[in-house]
Amino acid sequence: MDLLRKVFLAAAVSLVSSGAFSEVVGSYSNGCIIDPAVLPLEGRNYQVTRPQIDRNYGDPTLIRFIETLSAEAQRKGIGSVQVGDLSASHGGPMRNGHASHQSGLDVDLSLKFGRLPKKSLGTTSFLDVVSKDGKSVNSNFTWKQLEFIRLAASHDEVERIFVSPAIKKSICEYTGQGEDRSFLSKIRPWFGHRGHIHVRLRCPESSPFCEKQKSVPEGDGCGEELMSWFEPPKKTDRPARPQKKAAKPPLPKRCQTFFVR
Ligand SMILES: [Zn+2]
Repeated sequence: MDLLRKVFLAAAVSLVSSGAFSEVVGSYSNGCIIDPAVLPLEGRNYQVTRPQIDRNYGDPTLIRFIETLSAEAQRKGIGSVQVGDLSASHGGPMRNGHASHQSGLDVDLSLKFGRLPKKSLGTTSFLDVVSKDGKSVNSNFTWKQLEFIRLAASHDEVERIFVSPAIKKSICEYTGQGEDRSFLSKIRPWFGHRGHIHVRLRCPESSPFCEKQKSVPEGDGCGEELMSWFEPPKKTDRPARPQKKAAKPPLPKRCQTFFVR
């Protein structure tokens, strides 16, 4: 092979793995990513905690976000970031674990910080920061977790961050009325998420077939909506009638070449 051809091929390969031609198609829960960028398993300021399951693919905006946030966390003294799942190699539905994470715009980040020894990679590394009754955070929730979530929310490309309702409540309380509270709208209470946050980026402009989600409601979300998560189910509520499982919508056409259902 002549030299010019070799150089051309090497350049083409590096462009592909950097996600230069990445495109997000469909929605977070029914989509895929074409030519995704790859998050290296070990970064200077982060580690992918389950390297063996091959879920470190995403839109280049997601890869950049993780690298930048990790550097910021390290600078603030929070420590090295433990990165959970992004998307599989073409995104799409996963056999286990997530309904979303399909379009290369979602990532789970642990609330436990610091470098893991190589032998611990792949095993469960979990720090529960919520009390047993789910109503408040426990002593594992320190300034590090608070600052980390604030840092993540400060990124423009971040649209939502899912956390346990108890975590949202404590961030609401720690953020004074005189302080900037605009980032709070992005922090969304959700089931689980006691030891990690789920960060979701908005659709990148370079992906016209990326399906947007409804915008988050206006306001800090610290009032009634949040409190409803802590109320016992109302007595008048009837048990939910078992419903037929709705058929999954088909994947967008452009994704179908990657997956056989
Ligand atoms: Zn997640």
